[in-house]
Parts: sequence; C-alpha cells; structure tokens
Amino acid sequence: MLLCCREHRSSSAVSNQPVPRHADDLIQCGHCGNTITGEVKTKKIKKGPKDYRYYRCARYNKPGHPRIRLKEADLDEQVLAMFERVRIENDDVREWFARVLHARTRHDQKAKQDRLAELSRQVVMVRNQENQLLNLRLMDEIEEQTFARKGRELRDRLAQLNLQVDAATTAEPNTPRLRSKRLNFRKH
Ligand SMILES: [Zn+2]
Repeated sequence: MLLCCREHRSSSAVSNQPVPRHADDLIQCGHCGNTITGEVKTKKIKKGPKDYRYYRCARYNKPGHPRIRLKEADLDEQVLAMFERVRIENDDVREWFARVLHARTRHDQKAKQDRLAELSRQVVMVRNQENQLLNLRLMDEIEEQTFARKGRELRDRLAQLNLQVDAATTAEPNTPRLRSKRLNFRKH
C-alpha cells in the first residue's frame, strides 16, 4: 500500500508543493511515512501540450525506496478505496453504538421503574402512619397537639413524595432516537 490516512491537521494549511488540497497533509507514504508530493509533467500530444500530474513520496529517490509513482487517477482510486474502508468501519461503529444505546435505554428504564417502585412503597408507608396516628388520637393515646404536629410532618412528607413521583414520571424519557439522530453517521 502506498498511502495511508494521517490525522488531518489543517486543511487550510498553505503548501508550496503542487499537491492538490486532498493530498496535502492528508496522505503519506505507506513505505516510509514521508509526505506525498505531486509533480506535473507536460507532454505533447496531438492537440498540443497536456499536463499530467503524478504523485510520489518525497523520498522516492532514496536508495531502497520503492520507485512508485502514481497517476492522478490512480491516487484518486486509492483515496476512494480508503474512504470506502472508513465508511465500513463507521458501519461497525454505528452498530456497536446502537447496541450500547439500546442496553443503556433498558438500563435507564429499569432504574426509573425501580425508583417509582421505591417511591410508591414510601407513599404507602406514610399513609399507614397517618392511619396509625389517627387511631392513636381516636383512642386518646396522644394529645391533640402531638397529633397535629405529627400529622403535619406526615402530610409534608407525603407532598414531598408526590413531587418526587411527578418528577420521576415526567422526567424526560429516554430519547435514543434524538441522540442517534444527533450523531448522524452518514451512510453513502
Ligand atoms: Zn516513502
């Protein structure tokens, strides 16, 4: 392989080398890692002089280095093949992401159900305490003031629990559709 993908540092970097933008700084030699440079050869054909663009490693002339020179069309082909490979990798990533998202959603829903179950258990408990309190008062085992104070405590607790139930119920539901849309892996 002559080419491999290198991290794209800056597409706007100005280069004096006659390398087209898509090759500049993006492509390196698969043999030695050096920059691929372009050169233009003018050949005379029937219609007149015609420019042919070639690409080769900057160390193309070093001893032992493969003397590979690519025509522009060949380079385009290699770049397209590279993009195709990246696309396939993205397909894998997308599938993996969907699986993770699915598992996460199930986990979140389970957590929400657990939370609601726990809250309703506490609501039932407070209601039972209210009944017990009322019975104690009816049996005259506690004083009016104690009954009123304890009754307020329990009502406050209940109101608090109801707020938590509301929050847990109306809490923004999991939105895997939105999230995966935002990620938007492009499929060609
Ligand atoms: Zn090289």
